[in-house]
Amino acid sequence: MFKKILIANRGEIACRVAATARRLGIKTVAVYSEADANAKHVAVCDEAVLIGPAAAKESYLRGDKIIAVAKATGAQAIHPGYGFLSENAEFADACAEAGLVFIGPPASAMRAMGSKSAAKSLMEKAAVPLVPGYHGDNQDADFLNREADRIGYPVLLKASAGGGGKGMRVVDNSDAFKEALASCKREAISSFGDDKVLAEKYLQRPRHIEIQVFADTLGNCIYLFERDCSVQRRHQKVLEEAPAPNMTDERRAAMGEAAVAAAKAVGYVGAGTVEFIANQDGSFYFMEMNTRLQVEHPVTEMITGTDLVEWQLRVAAGEPLPKKQDELRIHGHAIEARIYAENPEKGFLPSIGTLRHLDTPDAVNFELGGIPGHPSGVRIDSGVREGDAISPFYDPMIAKLIVWGADRKQALARMSQALAQYQIVGLAANIAFLKRLVEGEAFATADLDTGLIERNHDALFPAAQPAAEGALALAAVALIEAEKDASAAQSGANAADPWGQALGWRMNNAYTRGLSFTDDYAAALPAKAYNVQITYRDADWLFNLPACAEAQPERLSLMSQQGTDFSIKLGDTAWHGSVRRDGDVFHVFTGGAHYALAYNDPMAHAGEAEADGGRLTAPMPGKVVAVLAEKGRQVKKGDALVIMEAMKMEHTISAPHDGLVEDVLYAVGDQVADGAPLLAFKAAA
Ligand code: ADP
Repeated sequence: MFKKILIANRGEIACRVAATARRLGIKTVAVYSEADANAKHVAVCDEAVLIGPAAAKESYLRGDKIIAVAKATGAQAIHPGYGFLSENAEFADACAEAGLVFIGPPASAMRAMGSKSAAKSLMEKAAVPLVPGYHGDNQDADFLNREADRIGYPVLLKASAGGGGKGMRVVDNSDAFKEALASCKREAISSFGDDKVLAEKYLQRPRHIEIQVFADTLGNCIYLFERDCSVQRRHQKVLEEAPAPNMTDERRAAMGEAAVAAAKAVGYVGAGTVEFIANQDGSFYFMEMNTRLQVEHPVTEMITGTDLVEWQLRVAAGEPLPKKQDELRIHGHAIEARIYAENPEKGFLPSIGTLRHLDTPDAVNFELGGIPGHPSGVRIDSGVREGDAISPFYDPMIAKLIVWGADRKQALARMSQALAQYQIVGLAANIAFLKRLVEGEAFATADLDTGLIERNHDALFPAAQPAAEGALALAAVALIEAEKDASAAQSGANAADPWGQALGWRMNNAYTRGLSFTDDYAAALPAKAYNVQITYRDADWLFNLPACAEAQPERLSLMSQQGTDFSIKLGDTAWHGSVRRDGDVFHVFTGGAHYALAYNDPMAHAGEAEADGGRLTAPMPGKVVAVLAEKGRQVKKGDALVIMEAMKMEHTISAPHDGLVEDVLYAVGDQVADGAPLLAFKAAA
């Protein structure tokens, strides 16, 4: 076995590989870019070497530099993770030339599977079932059009060199063919530098089912069952599970054997995944082979009780596969959800920023092993910690949340509970969306196909709901208690002096104050405002939301507080939640939901010289994505007027005062320079 390996990757997969290496007593060398100097993967490896600037092509894709680091640090092998150099045959060759072991398949197998067309030809010879189509060399437009007519519409055009869901076009009829072909070829050349395409029958309501295969250098090749990755958005996986719901033993064996035949046909070694597309009736066809460890490999580990990175290391070191086919069993059910820094309500636009607050459900520390059957059944693979940033340079994945249950029902219940416990403050994340997805009827009943998200769009993207009363009450209590603490700290030795404390206590009558919050939830545009009235009493408060027609003051009391966790009683209902403050925004996590309530502090701007209008300018160069203001309209202080997008992040320009929008100077889609005036604004007298 190796004594030291280099991990040519970053984020969760680099941490994941390092964890297994540490458990096996293998030393690890990390490489990192300037943007990742303080990243978790740098911290968890034994050594770390800077290889270049943030841009991947100047760092994580610099095979030459990485090989030089491996030589200099005495690493014997390189684990490429996924993405970056993991499917780069030239890099595998360069490792071999430098006397380093590439922890992955032989370069020849990568080349054979690198082209979707060539792979399909090979699979045809190995008698692996293929989607009806054309994958030959003739790229003449008239010829391909005739082939498409023969296949029957709808037809899917795919870039032969494609990947990551790019370079695909669905063609509905012969008249639309030529235009779709031209556009597919344009995207193929610009994304992959190769405009070769293939055409295949576009299946209706298909499922994506893939088989994990493993081969060693001694000629053994086995399959570790299947994963269902049908739940996708824009052809990218969102949820993955194992085993696939409704899979029969016979079909599993047939798919497993087809996958092993595919791997053997290219002399495969190591971990690989053979992707199939399956019809609802169970018939399945080869799609492609991924010649690396997949993002979703943990669900296979959870149901088989294996550590696939350990297997990779053993196979790369020349050892036989740790298990034979008939020693493998499926144990329970596992589901993985990809937690992304993104905004599902805005077309899954990535979000960047700092993870100001990160609280995760109790999970097995994967580094300690012992996965299946753990009481919590929850595993988190992540490359970031609280305080870390999601930068614009790399994939915005925050973590993979993986749950295991004795059956699918239990796994589902654990997933929704774990998502309810996942707290992220500082950037937009897809947690609420994932929760709706796993709790929705379609996924819960395993009515799976690749169009699940689009088909259930209305249920998955409900209209923004007003903040729950309990959430507003929690924010109000957190605010009042924080004021008390601040005031107690200020009055110091005079803590017993009622005049020195901001307790709201008044000599003769109860004191009522208004607290104004604005719903900061991204989907709630325009932002909704709430005016909470709190009346201080001896032992509790009265809570009122006068905006509601049937508003009745309700008793509000604090039952207990532990740090940022509060239990309150509002009327007869108890609410528990944690409240995290980020500047003026109170992030309330309660009942499995996350409310971001911006407190409009009347004191915050007191004393600041207030400009009385003039021009509102762009805070940075960017693009106008929404104009909410209209020329000639009266607006209130804080109303959102224009939303800009810069560095994939959105910025709202709001009215600084009540006043009049005199002119709007840009339209949606316009690029604006830093400091450019966006609106002419006149403050009310
Ligand atoms: P990539 O390499 O870009 O991931 P794939 O060939 O693996 O491309 O296909 C990605 C996804 O596109 C699949 O998971 C599936 O959802 C969809 N897809 C691919 N081929 C077909 C087809 N013939 N019919 C319907 N959907 C397909």
